[in-house]
Amino acid sequence: MKLSHIQLTPQFVQAVRDAIDVVEIASAYTKLSRAGRKWKGLCPLHKEKTPSFHVDAELGFFKCFGCGAGGDAIKLHMLLTGDDFAGAMEALAGRFGVPLPAPAAAHRGSRARAAAERDPEAVLSAAAEWFVDQLARAEAARAYLERRQIPRQLVERYGLGYAPEGWRNLLGAMNARFSAGDLIEVGLAARPDGGGEPYDRFRHRLIFPIRNAAGRLVGFGGRTLGDDAAKYVNTAETERFRKGELLYGLELAKRPLRETRRALLVEGYLDVLAAVAAGLDTAVASMGTALTPEQARLLARFADEVVVGYDGDEAGETAARRALPLLLAQGLAARRMRLPAGEDPDSLRRSAGDSAVRAACDEAEDLVLLELERAAPADLHRNPAARAQAGKRVSELLLAIPDPIVRYGYARAAADRLGVPAQLVWQRVGIGREAIRAALAPAPAESGPTPGRRAEEEALRGLLLAAERGLALPSPAELPPPAAFLDLGLRKFFVAFRSLYDQGRETTLAAVLAAVGDEEGADERAAHLLLESEDSAVVPSAEALRNLRRRWLKSRLRELNREVSEAERQGNRDRLAGLIAEKHDINDELHGVSARGADLE
Ligand SMILES: [Zn+2]
Repeated sequence: MKLSHIQLTPQFVQAVRDAIDVVEIASAYTKLSRAGRKWKGLCPLHKEKTPSFHVDAELGFFKCFGCGAGGDAIKLHMLLTGDDFAGAMEALAGRFGVPLPAPAAAHRGSRARAAAERDPEAVLSAAAEWFVDQLARAEAARAYLERRQIPRQLVERYGLGYAPEGWRNLLGAMNARFSAGDLIEVGLAARPDGGGEPYDRFRHRLIFPIRNAAGRLVGFGGRTLGDDAAKYVNTAETERFRKGELLYGLELAKRPLRETRRALLVEGYLDVLAAVAAGLDTAVASMGTALTPEQARLLARFADEVVVGYDGDEAGETAARRALPLLLAQGLAARRMRLPAGEDPDSLRRSAGDSAVRAACDEAEDLVLLELERAAPADLHRNPAARAQAGKRVSELLLAIPDPIVRYGYARAAADRLGVPAQLVWQRVGIGREAIRAALAPAPAESGPTPGRRAEEEALRGLLLAAERGLALPSPAELPPPAAFLDLGLRKFFVAFRSLYDQGRETTLAAVLAAVGDEEGADERAAHLLLESEDSAVVPSAEALRNLRRRWLKSRLRELNREVSEAERQGNRDRLAGLIAEKHDINDELHGVSARGADLE
């Protein structure tokens, strides 16, 4: 989410970095126990039974050896909450007591207005509290919830409220703290088109607060309790509230999703509450709109599989079918909840009970296979033209699937269904023989670094950790030149370190990271480097540095030999003399280094 009013100045970002604690952030999601200098626990980012999640409090990094995730505290917060960088800054600043920078806006009106600019969430929160208060007084609204059999605990957990009848109730109630402009800005009030007095957007409606994945209140949905033609109304679209990028209920579904990785996707607010009441606590809603690519992407962050629980009517079927390619494109497995015709999770619960809803979810069918059946009915073989048409439709659907193994499996099923040779479908969905072989072959050993890169990593790790702990460092002359690092990512870290070191400046990790800059993936790389193995012996490694320098000297020697013969051929005596001198120096150092080895340790 974009921040409209907070400026991410480097000072502010640094203040947040300094204040936050990676152990505290991780501990909110998993139980960590101390293992020496580090902390260890079950990974909050993937499901596992034995702990492979490591946190280094001193360095401020985490690394999971199960799923491979790693990075600094900000990265961890982003992965756990779904916040983007700006959102993470705001949330972490709040949590660790870093004051927000002054608003960017040049002009400010009343004090209330300035307050709203600092924190539009304050306006939303105040309104949410007021709606909850109103619900306590509104007998009709409470009776409605009872009729819908929504348990009281869920009404509280989801923060449901009520907006009473009338045009200026909320505006009046908020008047002491916030202006009409503040309410308009967060989408709670509106001004008539032709001008005139602002009015409440929600009137005689049940109110559902809507939070983003990070748990921040961003807007509201309202269901009419009267005969308003618009059954549902949402907060006006604002920078904070973009309906197409939000999933209702995701914040509360996140924790159970970490266990199951299986989300239930339903249409509306009440469907979410009904499903959760029935025991399906990973329910989220696309809020009445057709699923958007952004929502599918959001789901894929927290789930591997999505059960689509849209209504069992024509509109629901169409919506499920439209959602399918979007889910597949995110690498999600998609299933269809088995709802009787005309039922949705909410109505099914009321007519047949909680267990019926759970069964409908458990018996969910593979949505791709359902779609194949629909596209290629059993009597298709009688009509070649229709079969060709069906083949085309099916191929288009399968092309959305990123994983070739999954695509391959469905392509086989599609060929069966269409009654054509499998190769025909494979060709259509871009699976050649090579691709199939590659997809089915065991993963190449690309994950294991080459010995050369391992030596570079060891050297850099030893250096950075020694610097972090204030241990003695080799003199600049003993360091290898940047060119000794063939891995460009590692070289960047080394160059950053070296330039600080050569200038006699601080070479802590924070300083080196800051010098590397906010380059994409730099933190992740650092975490990988520094917490490289589960039991990474963190020996400040003069040996590794020496090896690296030796390796570089040897390769320089090979280069020199080539240059020497070239200079001889050209008869360039000056150059030859210089090259031979360099060769002597290197030979001396190579022998000297190995002879002096013991002194340096
Ligand atoms: Zn993990």
